[in-house]
Amino acid sequence: MKYALITGGSRGIGRAISLKLSEMGYYVLINFLSNIKEAETTLGLIKDAGGSGELMQFDVSKQDEVEKVLEAWKKQHEEQYIEVLINNAGIRKDTLLIWMENEQWFDVLNTNLNGFFFVTRMLLKDMLIKKYGRIVNIVSLSGIKGLPGQINYSAAKGGIIAATKALAQEIGKKKVTVNAVAPGFIRTDMTEDLNEKEFKQLIPLNRFGNPEEVAEVVGFLASEKSSYITGEVISVNGGLYT
Ligand code: NAP
Repeated sequence: MKYALITGGSRGIGRAISLKLSEMGYYVLINFLSNIKEAETTLGLIKDAGGSGELMQFDVSKQDEVEKVLEAWKKQHEEQYIEVLINNAGIRKDTLLIWMENEQWFDVLNTNLNGFFFVTRMLLKDMLIKKYGRIVNIVSLSGIKGLPGQINYSAAKGGIIAATKALAQEIGKKKVTVNAVAPGFIRTDMTEDLNEKEFKQLIPLNRFGNPEEVAEVVGFLASEKSSYITGEVISVNGGLYT
């Protein structure tokens, strides 16, 4: 049994990635924050397609929760390890910097950036010992280009991009790779408040993307086929200038 953990695997891009990794033969650990119904739907879709997995509820921004749940998993699976980690859980709380409350800043940094740190630190050691692992961080166009109204989100995603590049250099010798995927506008709950008709004019491919189009790239980076790629950021954004 090969294990993959997808944080924020219950909905949107995380659901598509969970399905993709299941299709690739992984037993999928679907992390989510609170939306158990959506998480169960994802697991149901995996099972319907002949795959297997389980739900793993924890808040990626809370160190104690992350450690408690992942330590318990490790105790029950002493002979195994999680060889693929997709750091996908993320939130946005947009507003201009002059109006930004501490809470909006810290919530976004805590979930996106600290979540990446807490979860990756827990799983990396086993990947290094086994000399194989794949980490894929879901970042954003916002973290490459910077977007107004998203200072918190741009800072968090930009921080993960820099961490991806630094970590790649720490762990390359042990055959563990870490890359980032930067979506542009993708149709999920996160973007349902955006007017696609208005924004698509900015996009050369003239539409928002689908979660499956992101999952395809993540699947490749999570596979053995991407063995000579590390520290990279791959955009999936319909040609938006980055
Ligand atoms: P989404 O539909 O809003 O889903 C967010 C997922 O993250 C859900 O599974 C949610 O769990 C989970 N989550 C949120 N906070 C969490 C926490 N503290 N601990 C654990 N899980 C948590 O988002 P999405 O559009 O699929 O986005 C997925 C990733 O892609 C995010 O990192 C986002 O920043 C990035 N991204 C998205 C777009 C886009 O256009 N959609 C563009 C660029 C980058 P619950 O279901 O329990 O709430």
